[in-house]
Formats: sequence, C-alpha cells, structure tokens
Amino acid sequence: MKGYIKINKEFCKECHLCIYACPRGCIIPTKEYNSRGYHPVASDEEKECTGCTLCAVMCPEVAIEVYRE
Ligand code: SF4
Ligand code: SF4
Repeated sequence: MKGYIKINKEFCKECHLCIYACPRGCIIPTKEYNSRGYHPVASDEEKECTGCTLCAVMCPEVAIEVYRE
C-alpha cells in the first residue's frame, strides 16, 4: 500500500512525536518557522509512506492528514 501525508505547518508545535512514530522515516525536522514560532516538520518525499496513519494518530495537534493511493 502506498500513501502520502499532508502536514498543516501552522498546527505543528515541533514535538516530533510523529518522527518517532513513523516506521519509514518519512517525516523530518525543518529550520523554517510557523507563525507560532515553532519549526514545523515536513514529509520526506524520497521515503516510501505506506499510509499506515501512525503519525496522524500520534500527533496531539491533529496536524497530519494521511492519504492512500
Ligand atoms: S502514514 Fe505511516 S508511513 Fe506514512 S508518514 Fe505516517 S507513519 Fe510514516
Ligand atoms: S506530532 Fe504533530 S505537532 Fe508534533 S511534530 Fe509531528 S506534526 Fe508537529
């Protein structure tokens, strides 16, 4: 199964729980800032997301949407 995620950068509070949760290493930190002063995470397009939803379930800010192809 293949999937992809969309991250709402404004919702992200940089806790990195999603990074620890993803078994494929698809989520990476960034140096950019959102309006709340956090560095939001981003998806690494070169990694293969399976659409397992673990990252979205883990996110306390509901910042991640998961789509399956
Ligand atoms: S859906 Fe699964 S594989 Fe895809 S980014 Fe989230 S945790 Fe990683
Ligand atoms: S779990 Fe949610 S709030 Fe935490 S770093 Fe990931 S996207 Fe941001």
